[in-house]
Amino acid sequence: MSTEVQPGTVYDTIIVGGGAAGLSAALYAGRYLMKTLVLEGAAPGGDTAVAWIVENYPGVPHVDGFELIRRMREQAAGFGATFASEEAAGASSEQHCFTVRTKGGTDYYSKTLILAHGEKHRHLGLPREGELANGKGLSYCVTCDGPLYKGKIIAIVGGGDSSVKGAVLAARYATHVYLITMEHELHAEPVNLEEFKRLENVTVLYDTVVTEFKGEPRLAGVKLSRSHEGTDELAVEGLFVEIGEVPSPELARSLGVALDEHGLIEVDPMMKTSVDGVYACGDTVNETGSFKQIVVGAAQGALAATSAYRDLGMHGGNACAIHARPAAHQPA
Ligand SMILES: Cc1cc2nc3c(=O)[nH]c(=O)nc-3n(C[C@H](O)[C@H](O)[C@H](O)COP(=O)(O)OP(=O)(O)OC[C@H]3O[C@@H](n4cnc5c(N)ncnc54)[C@H](O)[C@@H]3O)c2cc1C
Repeated sequence: MSTEVQPGTVYDTIIVGGGAAGLSAALYAGRYLMKTLVLEGAAPGGDTAVAWIVENYPGVPHVDGFELIRRMREQAAGFGATFASEEAAGASSEQHCFTVRTKGGTDYYSKTLILAHGEKHRHLGLPREGELANGKGLSYCVTCDGPLYKGKIIAIVGGGDSSVKGAVLAARYATHVYLITMEHELHAEPVNLEEFKRLENVTVLYDTVVTEFKGEPRLAGVKLSRSHEGTDELAVEGLFVEIGEVPSPELARSLGVALDEHGLIEVDPMMKTSVDGVYACGDTVNETGSFKQIVVGAAQGALAATSAYRDLGMHGGNACAIHARPAAHQPA
């Protein structure tokens, strides 16, 4: 089987997303000998690649998330899945044919579609956030940017598991880490909380919200909703926002796929969406509820690929005949 991406080809399945869910789907689809294309988007490996140390993936007791996802990708490629570092910008369907148009303007065609594009980082929604996130002191990923703040004072906004894990990592680089949470307590996995409590260079500011960014052109501090040590301004050189994620329902919506009230994709137990031939898995589906984990996404990816494989058999060889024309006639 060719491992080159071939515009003009009609793939058995296109998987949108190169995270744990998408790569697991790609592994299964490859093993079903389905012609498979994975569009990896702007963040190959997804959140797993930046999860830092992962200790709860069965069979792999202690592994860097980047290494875990590298192995998943290699395994899927070994069974014939092909990959493109492109972002899906829109999708449409006609007679069991799907067209996925990328941001770069390339059209890819398939008989089935698996949506595994995860979610987007939730923002604070304060003025200048976009500007400061452009390498000027604000980040949404401790694993990626934490090392840049070696010897500096930083703050993390959040109160869930990602922020606590992030603080444990950041405390290795930064001289001091403030964890700013609007809650009365932290909500993290007990094992991560235990490690966090042992840190000596971390201060938690409970019941506190960041209301303003300070510093020009780079971030130099934040204004707080309540005072800490007699002032409502906190001087920090880096701020990490770890307040969860929000759905990105645009692709599903363009295909008429049913969403829940939060914008997550509705799926049945076999990861089928409301549209024939479209499946979804991982953090983007409502089925996982609040339990968004690598092992859950991987399991759902396996189910999604299996459903696509079974349904392909039902639609027979005529599926997607309208796009099966010579590659020379396809857009570049
Ligand atoms: C800091 C942190 C630590 C974590 N630690 C753990 C842990 O220890 N254990 C655990 O089990 N879970 C952990 N998680 C949760 C886990 O990482 C997620 O549940 C898992 O990554 C979800 O996988 P996914 O494939 O559904 O989505 P994601 O990992 O978000 O992957 C989405 C993929 O879709 C791609 N994409 C997005 N939009 C498009 C588009 N338009 N076109 C093409 N591609 C697109 C992205 O580039 C990315 O490749 C952690 C998460 C974070 C943020």
